[in-house]
Amino acid sequence: MHGRTVSREDAVMTEALIQRLEDSGDALAALTAALIRFPTINPPGEAYRPCAEFIGQWLEARGFSVEFIRAHGAPGDSDAYPRVNVIGRREGGLPGETVHFNSHIDVVEAGQGWTVDPFAGLVSDGRVYGRGACDMKGGMAASMIAVEAFLAEHPVFPGAIEISGTVDEESGGFGGVAHLATLGRFSPPNVHHVIIPEPLNKERVCLGHRGVWWAEIETRGEIAHGSMPFLGDCAVRHMGAVIDAFERELFPKLALKRTAMPVVPDGAKASTMNINAIHGGQREDHDGLPSPNVPDSCRMVIDRRFLIEEPFDTVKGEVTAILDRLAWERPKFRYAIRDLMEVQPLMTEANAPVVRAVSDAIGKVLGRDAEHVVSPGTYDQKHIARIGRLHNCVAYGPGILDLAHRPDEWIAIDDMVAGAKVMALALHTLLFGAQPAK
Ligand SMILES: [Zn+2]
Repeated sequence: MHGRTVSREDAVMTEALIQRLEDSGDALAALTAALIRFPTINPPGEAYRPCAEFIGQWLEARGFSVEFIRAHGAPGDSDAYPRVNVIGRREGGLPGETVHFNSHIDVVEAGQGWTVDPFAGLVSDGRVYGRGACDMKGGMAASMIAVEAFLAEHPVFPGAIEISGTVDEESGGFGGVAHLATLGRFSPPNVHHVIIPEPLNKERVCLGHRGVWWAEIETRGEIAHGSMPFLGDCAVRHMGAVIDAFERELFPKLALKRTAMPVVPDGAKASTMNINAIHGGQREDHDGLPSPNVPDSCRMVIDRRFLIEEPFDTVKGEVTAILDRLAWERPKFRYAIRDLMEVQPLMTEANAPVVRAVSDAIGKVLGRDAEHVVSPGTYDQKHIARIGRLHNCVAYGPGILDLAHRPDEWIAIDDMVAGAKVMALALHTLLFGAQPAK
């Protein structure tokens, strides 16, 4: 049914869509600025409800049916800081599939070093400034304006469009996308295609991310008087031996592992581990002189990022093998290891419909080939894959990845215009291309 004639009609329709977005810069800047003015700082989760309500009103005015879904009991949820998500659905009136744009509304704290007010939504020199401009209120605005243009061209269409604003991505997404996924909101038949407008640069399609293993290692010793340490057993010295073994054996080994996943930046194509925290002995918040004790416990938190080629057993085994050997070499060395979090690496197939649609749209709008990338860190796609079991999902959004979480964060209005065009075209392909034969 998709003969030459249809393609020509298609070309005319998509040209009208692109034209409609040509002058959308002011609308994009205004909407991004409006979103930035809600200081949705996480933690603790400020201003979630008013921000969600603002998005809900915007969607209702464009014919969406809107629901607010609070994740009662999720980490951080309280009456003071409710985890309120917003989800809007617009039926096209014809049978078809559903395309969902998901953005997180939370931002990280502003931090130091700003030369502008981080929550004023300043528009200047073709940029919008503020915390969340790039990550990811600008991307959210681009998806909303793209959908608005699509609806103006096609009030009746096959399938449905959903837009959600979800909370807590910056702290793991449990009260946000994970919660909605548990309710079936990221699975067929509710949703078939998901685009997450995270800032990955406008020519890139992000297919997934590396894996994560967070764990706490505790070395154990024996308490004694600090003037007679030979009577005890110092847990901090045991931890010193652990760090030394990591330096000599583990870090060099990880640096040699390279993935075939197209991870950016290049340094993240290797396997990595960060020592996130270490603590032993007297508490840091203790005032005054310490009491003279030999510490009997030292704890370290490791943040290990692994590759799709690495089996999870190997990732853990490399660490426990070192600890077991130290237990054999060092008299009295004892340890405990506790898993804190585990996320498997993820990569959407390059020929999945949403990847092809977004890549084609990048080619048409930007006149260059889309770059397929994988993120060094995880984002909400993990919940859509694991809980929703939907593997037709990408991150695509305007905004320069390196500006996320930094002082004077900004997004270029031109990039948002380009990103909105790409999203509108991809939406068009997914909805009209997915129309079932009559
Ligand atoms: Zn983000």
